[in-house]
Amino acid sequence: MSRLDRDLSSPPPIPEEGIAAVEGVLRSGWLHRYGETMGDASEVSLLEADFAALLGSRYVVAVNSCGSAMFLALLCTGVKPGGRVLMNAFTLAPVPGAVAHAGAEHVLVDVTPDLVIDLDDLAQKAEASGARHLLLSHMRGHIADMGRLMALCERLGLTVIEDCAHTMGASWAGRPTGTFGRVGCFSLQAYKHVNGGEGGLLATDDPDVAARAILHSGSYMLYGQHRARPEEAVFARWRDVTPNFSLRMSNLVAAAARPQLPLLAGRARIWNDRYGRLATALAAIPGLRLPHRPQEEEFVQSSIQFAVSGLDDAHFAAFLERSRARGVFLKWFGAKRATGYTSVSAQWGFLSDPHTPPVTAGVLERLCDMRIPLTLTEAECGIIAGIIAEELAA
Ligand SMILES: *Cc1c(COP(=O)(O)O)cnc(C)c1O
Repeated sequence: MSRLDRDLSSPPPIPEEGIAAVEGVLRSGWLHRYGETMGDASEVSLLEADFAALLGSRYVVAVNSCGSAMFLALLCTGVKPGGRVLMNAFTLAPVPGAVAHAGAEHVLVDVTPDLVIDLDDLAQKAEASGARHLLLSHMRGHIADMGRLMALCERLGLTVIEDCAHTMGASWAGRPTGTFGRVGCFSLQAYKHVNGGEGGLLATDDPDVAARAILHSGSYMLYGQHRARPEEAVFARWRDVTPNFSLRMSNLVAAAARPQLPLLAGRARIWNDRYGRLATALAAIPGLRLPHRPQEEEFVQSSIQFAVSGLDDAHFAAFLERSRARGVFLKWFGAKRATGYTSVSAQWGFLSDPHTPPVTAGVLERLCDMRIPLTLTEAECGIIAGIIAEELAA
């Protein structure tokens, strides 16, 4: 019996240039992004400027995680303690965590079988809750119809913050994710598209949001060392009333991450090639359904999702177990209890009403999820599809 002999969770490697830059930072001792008299050439400031140019965004603020970026985005766009924030019911723990960090109340919105936020449910929940903010996850790289979504949010008076942890490098109809909403939040955690180990990037065109995020992140009075920053007059409005939360990014992280930005397009081609091979092979297996991908969606797919039909609980659990035993590690977001990196909204006991909305529960019930490591070979895609087909039929 064939077996897949590799760790599907291996993160993207750090290129030699990044290793050299990290070494340079270590040798210089400048691990902290600010110096008292130094100019604006720290690795973190350069990363912010590079990412702003790549995304086409006016301002970028680097912080210690995407969770911190989402927390600051909520705060700096006016979420108040007790305020309501709409969010996808299918997402990962840092998202409800960011809402809780801001002291706000969660309003869970259903997702469709194509794994994007359900716009009808969004409209209904927005009106029923009176929420003014949507924290939108492009979960597992699936992008909603951003034209319709933004028009709807405008009509409803919703401020949109995008969680782009899985869509760095991806676009909808030619426009990068993270530039539709007031703020876009990106992750440099090891399993995302650029691997800094830990880290977050907050992108915005709004000068007040940018200045507040920089000050909150812990810039002291050294915000002038940021390159992708608003002008002094904007800081003057905020610097004496904005507490320092010390959420800075280290120069080590930026040094490892920055040389990966120019590699993003090449990585996307590899990920999407492997995704395409897996998707074609899996879609041919009876009883498997893959999410529909619209033409306008230019995804970067570093994982794959498919739903299984026709298996009861026990047979589905056995299928997962046998696939894993052959090296194909499938995650299951439909489990009653979260394991590993999965997250289950019914288990978020810090919410005032923890539950999984019914449509989402149905979508997740038989949904399988597998990482696509950058180093996965074409041959291994065939082996994986073969193992899944055999174990489904077993
Ligand atoms: C990883 C992830 C985040 C947060 O990233 P961190 O940098 O680990 O805080 C947010 N949303 C989703 C969907 C993620 O997978």
